[in-house]
Amino acid sequence: MRYEGSIYRPPSEAWSLIVQATIGCSHNKCSFCSMYKDKKFRIRSIEDIIQDISEARMLYKSIKRIFLADGDALMIKTAELLKILEHIRNTIPECGRVGIYASPRSIMLKSHEDLKLLREAGLGIAYLGLESGSDEILKNINKGADSQEIVEAGQKVKGAGILLSVTLISGLGGKQLWKEHALESAKAINKMKPDFLGLLTLMVELGTKLYEEVEEGSFKLLTPREIAVETLELLRNLDCEGCVFRSNHASNYLSLKGTLNRDRELLINQLQEAIEGEIDFKEEYLRGL
Ligand code: SF4
Repeated sequence: MRYEGSIYRPPSEAWSLIVQATIGCSHNKCSFCSMYKDKKFRIRSIEDIIQDISEARMLYKSIKRIFLADGDALMIKTAELLKILEHIRNTIPECGRVGIYASPRSIMLKSHEDLKLLREAGLGIAYLGLESGSDEILKNINKGADSQEIVEAGQKVKGAGILLSVTLISGLGGKQLWKEHALESAKAINKMKPDFLGLLTLMVELGTKLYEEVEEGSFKLLTPREIAVETLELLRNLDCEGCVFRSNHASNYLSLKGTLNRDRELLINQLQEAIEGEIDFKEEYLRGL
């Protein structure tokens, strides 16, 4: 297996075999993100990807899940992705699910038929960053897509029968736009109805535009308690039956998990207890990405 630079994967792919199909992120311009700053986006050669999968077969007896990294591997042409998925099926037949990072752009470049073919070939889940449902925040962070475009991309993934996992970033609106962030994000999620919703909490990374904004004082970070208030507002407005809700990433101040809408009141109670000081927030030094 060959890897280039730092490798990122969604928390739920912690036990998956990571196959680096692309290097970097096709967008690479979000103001808060430092993940792929050192990499120029490119798609690896299909031969190299296939060779890595064959090598993994020799190294590991049982591979239950595979995640195709880096950012936005859905940018790979459908015919080539199908070859990769076919190779996985032939050499690692026990693999029950292949996951991928997707962007609104890479999803919209695929037709409904392309996505269905990928689903039939084994693509089981796509991870899509909504980050925020607020157009103002999406513009501020230079996401490169508005809320409606991201919602349509998510709906397209679901329409093809591929599981959809969506990420929001708590605190992304700062002190000025926290309420809009909560309310507009709830609206977008309610329209998209993802199978999984993951909340990360904003971390300010050196070398990003956001870092400069925090330093110069134009972006004011929320405190852990304010983040909990924002999450409470989000949860109160979410209507996403059956969606698995997770806010238990290393970056989160409070660990929450449940299934919507069933566990919404339980989650709200936990947040209220934290806001009232009955549950401790994670110490800053224990947070990570
Ligand atoms: S947040 Fe996602 S889309 Fe934005 S630059 Fe980072 S990896 Fe790329």
